[in-house]
Amino acid sequence: MKIELTQKFIELYHKNPDSVYFTPGRVNLIGEHIDYNGGLVMPCAITLGTWLAISPNNNGEYNMSSLNFENNLTVEASKTHDKNGSHWANYPIGIINEFLKDGKDIPGLDFLFFGNIPIGSGLSSSASIEIATAFALNDYFNLGYDRVDLVKMAKRVENDFIGLNSGIMDQFAVAFGEKDKAIVLDCETLKYKMVDVDLGNYVLAIINTNKPRELADSKYNERVAECQTALTLLNKEITLHYLCELTAEKLALHSHLIEDEIILNRATHVIKENDRVHQAAKALNSVDLEEFGRLMYASHQSLRVLYEVSGKELDTVVDYCLTDEHVIGARMTGAGFGGCAIALLEKGFEEDFAKKLTDYYVNQIGYPAAIYISEIGNGPIKL
Ligand code: ADP
Ligand code: MG
Repeated sequence: MKIELTQKFIELYHKNPDSVYFTPGRVNLIGEHIDYNGGLVMPCAITLGTWLAISPNNNGEYNMSSLNFENNLTVEASKTHDKNGSHWANYPIGIINEFLKDGKDIPGLDFLFFGNIPIGSGLSSSASIEIATAFALNDYFNLGYDRVDLVKMAKRVENDFIGLNSGIMDQFAVAFGEKDKAIVLDCETLKYKMVDVDLGNYVLAIINTNKPRELADSKYNERVAECQTALTLLNKEITLHYLCELTAEKLALHSHLIEDEIILNRATHVIKENDRVHQAAKALNSVDLEEFGRLMYASHQSLRVLYEVSGKELDTVVDYCLTDEHVIGARMTGAGFGGCAIALLEKGFEEDFAKKLTDYYVNQIGYPAAIYISEIGNGPIKL
């Protein structure tokens, strides 16, 4: 990939890139919709990601190009810029703005990006391009930021510049990922633990439903509000800051406070999903992948029935996986309503899986899903 990107860089800018960087995308292995309830998530970096080639120029410009998009953008260097409509280059420009606002000097540069992450599918190509830019500039100009600084900076860009109200998990996972390790992360305190993931005879299959996540934003906000309602009701008898402070037994003791069955279902998902993250970490520590797979299926079932954030496309993928003897676990990953599912698939059956899943999926949904085989990869690196 580095060679192809270098070649394209030469075609575009008529010189060699000075430096080339890679930054991964991410999946959340388990722990869904609990980050905003004080729970733990378990993301990992994947081997799909974003490459960035850069070189200085003497034109006093930032030239932004991406092999994934046709529209380039050139802006004046060394000054901050407003958001440019929905241009993809808002992501790197947002990051540069942050460095400039912090008093750093970023002279004219030529940029070329390429990502092999499916864009807009919940594998966080956005966090990947943000961290790619932040990591590269920090390294190239020796700016002295640590990784947590870059993660917080990228989140600010996503929230305040791009305007998406997302948590910090994506940027953290992308920046802190390590090969064959999952990150057990408290998104509130940023306390984290790396857990070894020995996939043994299995690979991580990522299945993009190709369904746009249209509902995701509005339903996300609705779920946040429902959890807040549950918390307020429970606080009539006990003092809680987050739902995840409760165990399932404790919830049962106080569940009479929540008369609305839907609200109780939401709280039940949150509390049991948080418990599943703890169980999943234990399963990984004892290299019990079968148990990990069972927890993935249980997570999906809860997101489907209790939390109602799945949908026909994601359910179709998981329903197929349940019938395939070479799959030991599968679930939707990310906010839901489309986007991607993940599955633990026995090595050597990748083609068989792709063919059978495609047949099943097309038959039910009418168009194909895209299937990627990935490994758990490293965070950002200079190549
Ligand atoms: P996701 O993060 O789930 O992939 P988002 O909608 O949050 O989806 O982010 C996708 C956006 O990030 C793209 O529309 C584009 O603006 C930007 N982006 C991601 N990867 C690239 C890339 N390789 N080149 C240019 N822009 C990119
Ligand atoms: Mg994103």
